[in-house]
Amino acid sequence: MSGKFQRRETKPIPPGGEDVLDRITAWLVRNAVSLGVAGLLAGVGTGHFIKAGWASPYTIPWLSVLLLFLVLASWRFVRPNRISPRHEIEFLGAVAAGLTYFIHVTGAGHSPLRPASFLLVAMVAAALPIWINISLIALLAAVEGASRIVPVYPGIPWPEIAVDLGATAGFQIVLAVGLGWIVQAEVRHKDSWMGRFQRLTSDAETFDPLVGSRGSETALAMEDEARLTSLVQSAQEFDRVLADLLDTIKEAIPSNTVVLFTRREGEDALEMKAVLSCGEAIDRAAVIPVGVGYMGWVAREMKPLHVAELKGDVAPLGYYASAEPVESFLAVPLVDQGYMRGVLAADSTERGAFSKADENLLARFAVQIVYILRKMTEQQQIIQIARSSRVLSEIAEAIGRSLDVDQVLNELLGKVGGLIPYDSAWVVLTDPAGGGVVRAAAGMADSDRVVGQAVDVRGGVFGLMMENRHPVLLSRLEGKAGQGPFASLGGTADAALRSFLGVPFVLQERVLGFLLFGSFTVDRLNGFHQSVGGLLAKQIAYQIDNAELHKRLEQQAVTDSLTGLLNRRRFDEKVEEEMERVARAGGPLSLGLLDIDHFKRINDTFGHPVGDAVLKIVAQAILEQVRAVDAVARYGGEEFALLLVETDTAGARKTMERIRMSIEKGQYMLDGREVPVTVSLGFTTCAEGRASAGELMGEADRALYHAKETGRNRTCAFTELAGRGPEPVASGGGPAAPVGRRT
Ligand code: GH3
Ligand code: MG
Ligand code: MG
Repeated sequence: MSGKFQRRETKPIPPGGEDVLDRITAWLVRNAVSLGVAGLLAGVGTGHFIKAGWASPYTIPWLSVLLLFLVLASWRFVRPNRISPRHEIEFLGAVAAGLTYFIHVTGAGHSPLRPASFLLVAMVAAALPIWINISLIALLAAVEGASRIVPVYPGIPWPEIAVDLGATAGFQIVLAVGLGWIVQAEVRHKDSWMGRFQRLTSDAETFDPLVGSRGSETALAMEDEARLTSLVQSAQEFDRVLADLLDTIKEAIPSNTVVLFTRREGEDALEMKAVLSCGEAIDRAAVIPVGVGYMGWVAREMKPLHVAELKGDVAPLGYYASAEPVESFLAVPLVDQGYMRGVLAADSTERGAFSKADENLLARFAVQIVYILRKMTEQQQIIQIARSSRVLSEIAEAIGRSLDVDQVLNELLGKVGGLIPYDSAWVVLTDPAGGGVVRAAAGMADSDRVVGQAVDVRGGVFGLMMENRHPVLLSRLEGKAGQGPFASLGGTADAALRSFLGVPFVLQERVLGFLLFGSFTVDRLNGFHQSVGGLLAKQIAYQIDNAELHKRLEQQAVTDSLTGLLNRRRFDEKVEEEMERVARAGGPLSLGLLDIDHFKRINDTFGHPVGDAVLKIVAQAILEQVRAVDAVARYGGEEFALLLVETDTAGARKTMERIRMSIEKGQYMLDGREVPVTVSLGFTTCAEGRASAGELMGEADRALYHAKETGRNRTCAFTELAGRGPEPVASGGGPAAPVGRRT
């Protein structure tokens, strides 16, 4: 083959690829017919002229044969690679039949050219099935014999005839076998590309984009620059595999151009991925919209197309920049699980060059190319991930910096745009009760409006993600309003969405929320974005968990761990706050203290754990009797404090008494025994902010002491204390006792 046509740089695929000897053999085999005829003609012709000179009657047939051969040979140079070995044999066969007849007609039957006629006959014979050959040879021998026996000789020279017959038949058989070998070699050559095709296929199948073809055992380390380089190199290897496949296709299906178009990511258009052409007119930047021209038709219909007569009109092909004498066109779609990935096409300058068998073969190649393309896509995505690692670590850092969940989510949506090409993005967080709320949104004009809206996370895509805890990727949405995943939110995004990616973030089997991305373009969001989303979701889950933990710790700092009530520190703060408010706005404020009676005895009799349980019971009993605005604290061991806002002495007494009585009435069965629990309460009321917080606490304490002193299980107001106001009126039972400071 001449090197005139455009050929991509192709290297044999090691191991077991073709070596130089293979290539020389292939060349010899492909050119054996021409070489053989040339040699024979040269030899016989030279002999003829030496013997007979130019004036011989055989000069004309001989020159005719030579001329035909020259035309044939120069055709190979003028149009290299456009005529298949099979066509060559057929052509030569046709020439042979004509020549044989011509030589005989011109009376050259006994000329030195006669062997040439046998050679040509044998050529035809070589292309025919073996049983026809045997019959033909037998027939030839019989005709030859008959021609000698029947008319002329009176006395039959049997030995001479036998020798003649034997020589003729033998000569033809030898030539037929020789040519048969050439044909067989041609078949073997075809087999060899089939073998190569299979090797390429298996190369592609065993190619692992994570490891590359060099068999490195280390998995992908994202930060590793060397790893990235080797990934890029292995991507180039894919290109070489594709180029080799095209080369193989061109050899298998004799054609002018073999071209591979692949679908542009996220678009309904084809772009040229690889081409191998004898012509110069290829438009390497060609982009063909789906549905336009022959290529576009194949892409849209996902069906093969065979056009046998183009009459040189290459416009519908879409990949020639200028005129090219193309006559036939054959294309098959590249379909990957129902998804159109591209079109593989071949054309030829011969009319009707392609058969049904060619179409089947091209379809087989298409299957392999789909496989390689899929691998290439994976490969590119991994490269993309490696390249994106910096962006990812930036996001991780940003997420990790803050404990404010909303701030984290907004930063995330801002940064992730560089990795996931969204038109709109949301973060929905779930609550333990099973609801969902949009906590962050980006990309749309009405993003702010959407934030804070409730989302039903039990149905639709949300329900699916809740149940499976797996991302959902919808790449071909209808884009109709009210049908998208965000129908309930309304707004701009819902109507136009054509692709959607939802990633739940899950921590310990619990779906904390969802990362959601939408695009107005079909197929824009893909598996790569899903993996990126998965990585981010994991980080967010941890960060939200972190923030929740932090919140819990913060809460613990203001509450008592046993009862869940406020602790002393927080209560003191509250008292200060409320006193300030009273000083500003006026209004009564009551402060009460509650102490469990004979708690030491409870501990001693029933044990410390029962004592703890009683503390919880009392805490609960207090909470049941106060309003949400009131503050209740565990102030000390078994001492509780109450701050009753907007409550005067009468109101406070009522509340205090309700608490005391509810505890007194309660029956507490702990560890199978009844535990008697009563409490004593003391309180004071301040109006117009006359006292300080410390004074107020002292007053309540003195009232409580008075309640203890006067018999326990009772409520005492500071105003009732002797020397302070009216005589104390004990509200519970028990003897009266002298007033004094409690110890
Ligand atoms: P009264 O108040 O009626 O005068 O008698 P009391 O027995 O309650 O006396 P006091 O207030 O002196 O006793 C407090 C006891 O409460 C001492 C301590 O062992 C116990 N206590 C304090 N904190 C806890 C706690 O967290 N759990 C348990 N089980 N006991 C506690
Ligand atoms: Mg006490
Ligand atoms: Mg006590």
